[in-house]
Amino acid sequence: MDLIVGIDLGTTNSLCSVFKDGHPVLIPNTHGSFLTPSVIGILEDGQIVVGASAKELRVTHPERTASVFKRSMGTDRTIEVGGQSFTATKLSSLVLCALRRDAEAFLGCRVKEVVVTVPAYFNDNQRQATKQAGEMAGLKVRRIINEPTAAALTYGFHDRGAEKHLMVIDLGGGTFDVTLMEIFEGTLEIISTAGESMLGGEDFTDRLMATVLKKEGLHLETTEMKQPLRTARLREECEMAKRQLMTDGNSRIRLPDAQGTFDESKALQLNPDVFAKIVQPLMRRIRDPINKALRDGDCPPEKIDDVILVGGATRMPVMQKFVADFFKKRPLVSFNPDEVVALGAAVQAALIGDDAAVDEMVMTDVCPFTLGVEVAKEFGGRVSSGYYQPVIHRNTTIPVSREEQFGTMVPNQQEVLLMVYQGESRKVADNLCLGELRIVDIPPGPAGTEILVRFTYDLNGLLEVEAMLPSTGRKFNTVLTNHSSSLSSEELATAVAEMQKLKFYPRDDLQHQRLVLYGERMVGEVGPFHRQQLEDAIDVFEHAMSMGDRELFDRARLGLLMTLEQMGVGYDETDETDEDVAGDRR
Ligand code: AMP
Repeated sequence: MDLIVGIDLGTTNSLCSVFKDGHPVLIPNTHGSFLTPSVIGILEDGQIVVGASAKELRVTHPERTASVFKRSMGTDRTIEVGGQSFTATKLSSLVLCALRRDAEAFLGCRVKEVVVTVPAYFNDNQRQATKQAGEMAGLKVRRIINEPTAAALTYGFHDRGAEKHLMVIDLGGGTFDVTLMEIFEGTLEIISTAGESMLGGEDFTDRLMATVLKKEGLHLETTEMKQPLRTARLREECEMAKRQLMTDGNSRIRLPDAQGTFDESKALQLNPDVFAKIVQPLMRRIRDPINKALRDGDCPPEKIDDVILVGGATRMPVMQKFVADFFKKRPLVSFNPDEVVALGAAVQAALIGDDAAVDEMVMTDVCPFTLGVEVAKEFGGRVSSGYYQPVIHRNTTIPVSREEQFGTMVPNQQEVLLMVYQGESRKVADNLCLGELRIVDIPPGPAGTEILVRFTYDLNGLLEVEAMLPSTGRKFNTVLTNHSSSLSSEELATAVAEMQKLKFYPRDDLQHQRLVLYGERMVGEVGPFHRQQLEDAIDVFEHAMSMGDRELFDRARLGLLMTLEQMGVGYDETDETDEDVAGDRR
C-alpha cells in the first residue's frame, strides 16, 4: 500500500505529517520549519513562491501575493495575484504541491495519497473544493477529516486507556470549531460539533486594524482597497501586537501612512483589557457554538474532564481566560496547538493503512450540520414554498444514509426540481443551497405521487443525493450541480497540466539547496586562501535564489559551480541525495 501523508491545510499555516515507527511525526519544510505559511506569491518573472518567501513578499508587494484564501474555498471568487486570476482551489493546490515536495524530500519517496483536514464546519462545496485542490496537486485525497476530530485523535492516540469527556476548541486563522467527544476503551466517539466557518484569529487582527484606522477617520475595507501597502504594514503591526500580549502583557500599534512608513507619534497602546474590549463582539460569537455543542450532546460544562485548545488563535490570553472561566478548569495544552491537527491527520492515515500501532483504536464522527430539501407547506388552503425539511439531522453519526418520502404538488406533475440545503433554519432562504436534482418523466397521477429521496453522507463529509419514483422504479442521482468549484474531468486535466507549467521559486528547490549545502561543507575543506572566494560565491548564489530573477540566478549558479571546480572540489549532483538535505535540516 502507498504511504499516506497527513496534511493540515490551514488558513494561515499548513503542516504535513506521517505515521512512522508507531507514532505520528511532523515533516519539516525546506526551511526546516513545520509551519508553511499558506501564502502564495508571484515574482516579477512569473515564478510562483509558496510559504515563508511569499509571506516576506507580502510586506513589500501585497498585490503580488494571496493569503487567507481558505475562506474562499468552494466559491467562484477569483483572487488577483500579480495580474493573474486564481480560484482559492488553485491557490490551495499550490500549497499542497509545496507540501508534497517537502514530504517527498523528507521521506525519500513519491507521495501520492493524503489525508487532508478541514474545519468541521466546512460545507459540501468547501470539501469538494479541498478534494479538487488535492487532485490538481497530483494527490489522491484518501480521506477528508474534520480538524477537531484530528486533534482529538492525537490526544486519543496518546491516551487510549482513558475514559473521559473531552471538548476540543479549535480557533484557527479563519474558522472556529467546537467538538464534544467521549473516549472509552480505545473508542473515540464524537458526540456533537458546532462552529462558524467565518470566525478566526484573523478577525481579531481585523478588529484591531479597524480600531486603529477608525481613530484616523478611516474605514478598513475602503483603506484596504485604496491603500494596500498601508493596510499590509498595519496588518503585520497588529499581528505582532496581538501576539505580544501573550508574552509581554502590553504592546503598541504604530500607524503606517499611505506609503507604509510608520508615524511613531501615532500609536495605540494595547493591554489585555483594551484588547478584550475591542474584541468583545467576537467573544460573544465564540460562546454560542460552545453552548450549542454542549446542548446537542446533552452534556453540562461540569461533565467535561478535559478542554483541548487547538489552533494558533487559542494562544490569545482572552481565549484562555474565557475557557478557564466557562469550564472552571485550565485547558489542556500537552500538544502544541499549531501541530495537534496535523499529528491527528497522520493517526487517521495510520487507521486507513491498518497500521498495527492503531489496531485497538476505533473512531466515530458526526455530520456537523442538518441536511435537507426545500418543501412547500399548505396553510388554510394556501400553498407556500420556501420551507426546509431535514433529511439528515446534525450530529448524526457518519457514514449515514437516510430516506424520506415526498410527494408531487399538483395532479399530473411531470417534473420536480429538488433543491438541497444545509443549515438549521426553518426557511430555506436562511440556509445554504448546496445544489439541485431534477426529477423528470414522472408518470401521470394525482397530487402527492410518491418520490423517495435518499441522502448519503460519507466519512469525508461529502453528500450524495438520490431520488426514486416507486411507480416506475426510475432513479436519479447527483453529484450536486451547484458546486461552483466543480470542474469537469477535462477541466481538471487542463488545470493539472497548467499546474505543471507553474514554476517554483529556486529557493524552494532541493537541487539548489543541495548545492548550497555542498558549498558550505567545502568551505572547511578548501585552503584558507580560497575560503573567502568560495564564501562570496555562495553568498551571491543564495542572494540570487531569493531574488527570483532567472538570469541572475543562472549566472550565480554557474559562478558557484565554476568556483568549486577551480578549487578542485567540483560538484557532482548525482553524489548528493535528498537525505543529505533532509538530514541537514533535522
Ligand atoms: P492557524 O490557522 O491555526 O494557523 O491559525 C493561526 C492564527 O493564530 C492566526 O490568526 C494567528 O494570528 C493566530 N496566532 C498564532 N499565534 C498567536 C499568538 N501567540 N497570539 C495570538 N494569536 C496567535
